[in-house]
Amino acid sequence: MSNALRAVRGMNDLLPAEAPLWARFESIVRAWLKSYGYREMRTPILEHTGLFKRAIGEVTDIVEKEMYTFVDELNGESLTLRPEGTASCVRAAIEHNLLFDGGKRLWYAGPMFRHERPQKGRYRQFHQVGIEALGFAGPDLDIELLLMTARLWKLLGMAEHIRLEINTLGGAESRARHRQKLIAYFEARQDQLDEDAKRRLHSNPLRILDSKNPAMQALVEAAPKLMDELDEAAIAHFEAVKRGLEEAGIPYTVNPRLVRGLDYYNLTVFEWVTDKLGSQGTVCAGGRYDGLVAQMGGKPAPACGFAMGVERLLVMMAELGLAPEPDAPDVYIVNVGEAAGRFALMAAESLRDGGLDVVLHGGGGSFKSQMKKADASGARFAAIIGDDEAAAGEVAVKPLRGEGEQRRVALADAVLMIRGSGNGKRETGNG
Ligand code: ATP
Ligand code: MG
Repeated sequence: MSNALRAVRGMNDLLPAEAPLWARFESIVRAWLKSYGYREMRTPILEHTGLFKRAIGEVTDIVEKEMYTFVDELNGESLTLRPEGTASCVRAAIEHNLLFDGGKRLWYAGPMFRHERPQKGRYRQFHQVGIEALGFAGPDLDIELLLMTARLWKLLGMAEHIRLEINTLGGAESRARHRQKLIAYFEARQDQLDEDAKRRLHSNPLRILDSKNPAMQALVEAAPKLMDELDEAAIAHFEAVKRGLEEAGIPYTVNPRLVRGLDYYNLTVFEWVTDKLGSQGTVCAGGRYDGLVAQMGGKPAPACGFAMGVERLLVMMAELGLAPEPDAPDVYIVNVGEAAGRFALMAAESLRDGGLDVVLHGGGGSFKSQMKKADASGARFAAIIGDDEAAAGEVAVKPLRGEGEQRRVALADAVLMIRGSGNGKRETGNG
């Protein structure tokens, strides 16, 4: 089928076989967010290109080379598929004046788009769940974010496989001082810089520290440290965050090279990293960005948050054997014969009226082949209807998971019989 249509490279379909694992993840995450008082935001997937340039920064991987940007031919506007959620969330909070009566805890989830080289754990359409705590100066909020994420790893059964790295980027003044020292340091060693670093030398020298080029590691190791430039307030903030983690018993390491890829961060930055996913090991990243709201035209308000990569967490869930959400029906209705088919439609509706999940066999076929489908559906019961049963207003209820004998009962009694034998559906997977 050489001319068959295919999905865009790096953009994945979610098929029914994988959907229950996503559903499980999503229900755990929703309950977890609610337990911390976070409230949901949904923003458009398309935004004006200027939003991301202004929020994320012109000299970042995302804005320089990863955005899906196009001109709306109807009015000439430049639009971009959102590459991350913070810019949109903050824009919406400003636009709708959400902070008028104080800080807000917000969350969002959904697809993000980045034009990267697709590989395991790195896609062009991928999904994030993110939170933004807007209007809180911290450091208590920084600590809450970290406690919160630590709790999620426990809920997902992956706490032992994820570790925390933190750093501080200080305030604006110490960053400016550090920037001057960095530029001087790298300028004196121009010949050792790669192309990326040369380009960033004057626009965003901090990002050179983020370089993954092995040839530059020694140079980067020896570069002036931001830690040495921190003012007292930044040090106190960082110490408070570390103390909070220690009091909560959450192990961490300080990674002075953790600078994050986006311009808007200050003070605390962090990443949760795993060894289970090869080089795509960061599953959650965030920090504080006190300047962003004002930079985007809002009344100045401190802010912090994080985003996690859903695909990467789901790979871990699958590997660690966390159970998907059960999606088997309670009842599968087998029906053979014309009168049986008509009665079966009605019977299915009345079982649903009784609160059961019902799959009605479609497409005909022999009794035997329908029973195979009933079994494969994972249903706990088959409700079997032939023309005989239809004439009598009855169904034959057959337990499919080895609990008792087949019994023919009035349709009205079938609900009681099925519900009475335990309300649970068959758990799929190993949960
Ligand atoms: P990386 O260094 O892996 O490129 P990043 O710093 O660009 O990550 P963020 O912008 O901080 O990533 O996004 C937060 C999280 O979203 C990442 O930690 C990761 O789990 C996930 N993520 C980012 N880009 C992708 C992608 N292209 N495909 C799948 N997940 C991604
Ligand atoms: Mg990236």
